Amino acid sequence: PPVYEQRYYFVKNLVNQHGHKKIADLGFGDATLLWMLKYHRCVQYLVGVDIAAKPFEWGGGRLSPGVGSYIIPRELDLTITLYRGSAVQKDSRLCGFDLITCIELIEHLDSEDLAKFPEVVFGYFSPGMVVISTPNSEFNPLFPASTFRDPDHRFEWNRKQFQMWALDVAKLYNYSVEFSGVGDPPAGAEHVGYCTQIGVFQKNSTKPTELSISEPEEHVYEVVYTTSY
Ligand code: SAM
Repeated sequence: PPVYEQRYYFVKNLVNQHGHKKIADLGFGDATLLWMLKYHRCVQYLVGVDIAAKPFEWGGGRLSPGVGSYIIPRELDLTITLYRGSAVQKDSRLCGFDLITCIELIEHLDSEDLAKFPEVVFGYFSPGMVVISTPNSEFNPLFPASTFRDPDHRFEWNRKQFQMWALDVAKLYNYSVEFSGVGDPPAGAEHVGYCTQIGVFQKNSTKPTELSISEPEEHVYEVVYTTSY
């Protein structure tokens, strides 16, 4: 399968392994990943956030319950909500998820937004698991034109750059991180690594009773679509 599909299947495998109930996808694009995740029986709450989410494109479509969902009802309820907003803005409705995915998102952030990203996603949203994928620049010489893969990319990191950033973030917010990827290099070019590099961050168990004054509710994202099964 093409690399973008391999990225979605990578997430689906994690969801199968861990049985996540509440999942948010930051930078959900055309919502293909959310659509693929809605078929997991463990999932009860799916949220997408994209800075470019358009309200009218989502008047139903593949995220709404199909005929099949009435014939074979789900055992558990499922709610899907799409927001327009930025992954570097705090919104309390994104707090307390089991999994937050950021698939090919961070390389679209300018340096100012990239600097805010860890505090918002790891510090404030603070989900049990975070998956971040981004291009591995070491793979680029294998492409015909050796520039950025997308003109909107602000950067493309090699494995060392990504891993140093990820390890710093993990340490600061008390997560552990494992590195993986999808898109095998062709025979003879194994040294360049995967086409897409992926970091899987897991929150280290936190102290159960932390006497902190809970932050006030902040709703800055705009709801563009919502449905329930
Ligand atoms: N995750 C999808 C996928 O893998 O197919 C889409 C990836 S696309 C390369 C990057 C997406 O991130 C776009 O839909 C873009 O609108 C969104 N995006 C860019 N900056 C963002 C930000 N600050 N907050 C949320 N979404 C953002």
